[in-house]
Amino acid sequence: MVTDKQLENLRQTLAQAKSIVFFGGAGVSTESGLPDFRSANGLYRQKFAFPPEVMLSHNFFFSHTREFFDFYKAIILNLEARPNAAHFKLAGLEAAGLLAAVITQNIDGLHQAAGSRTVLELHGSVHRNYCLRCQAFYDAATVAQAAGIPYCGCGGLIKPDVVLYEEGLDQAVFAAASAQLRQADVLIVGGTSLAVYPAASLVRHFRGNHLILINKEASSLDSEATLILRGPIGEILAQVEG
Ligand code: NAD
Repeated sequence: MVTDKQLENLRQTLAQAKSIVFFGGAGVSTESGLPDFRSANGLYRQKFAFPPEVMLSHNFFFSHTREFFDFYKAIILNLEARPNAAHFKLAGLEAAGLLAAVITQNIDGLHQAAGSRTVLELHGSVHRNYCLRCQAFYDAATVAQAAGIPYCGCGGLIKPDVVLYEEGLDQAVFAAASAQLRQADVLIVGGTSLAVYPAASLVRHFRGNHLILINKEASSLDSEATLILRGPIGEILAQVEG
């Protein structure tokens, strides 16, 4: 439940900010119809042949490639999803010169679809796919439309450019995200349980005065927040005019 006073506090903090950074996760896209991991409707509450974190792991990709792509194409890849009010508001704040960067754990590309330009994708993107043999690039539609496992014309296996469990983050993206957080005076953390490391550790690089949390549930950062808005991030950000 978000009060008028909290919304007014949010509006004023954003209007007076010098440099806002947004750090988000799967909860930013649930209002676009994409399931997150840990909510009541999240993937962790659904029954699959293997747990989601197993099916999205590096070893599983190579040992059970067919099952990986069955799960990936049916559950993770959703090319029909459209940005929601949260994505659009963040893009608008960037266009207005208030927001410096979106740092996201999401792989769905919805921030860019809404018009955001500086998007640091900690876990990669479903929209980039590469042949493991010749490095040829493929878009997401090619992977979605492949019957079973997607193969390159050269015969190589095509792998989505997403960071699977057991894989490390791109250090250049991590460093860029850290730099953005260190220069920001306002950090909005939204739609993330802050349970996936090392991505979640990045919020510790923030040095500014205003830490705003917008999440449906409590998180480990609540005790340090200057403002907590408990509710759906799209609905909340839609109430910030401008
Ligand atoms: P998570 O599932 O662990 O946590 C999501 C959090 O968002 C929860 O605390 C939940 O209460 C909150 N939430 C859900 N819907 C919300 C809404 N509409 N408004 C506000 N809060 C909302 O997700 P995570 O922290 O991002 O970690 C899971 C990992 O899996 C990440 O790497 C994530 O990017 C990835 N993942 C990505 C997608 C995607 O790209 N859309 C989808 C599922 C999982």
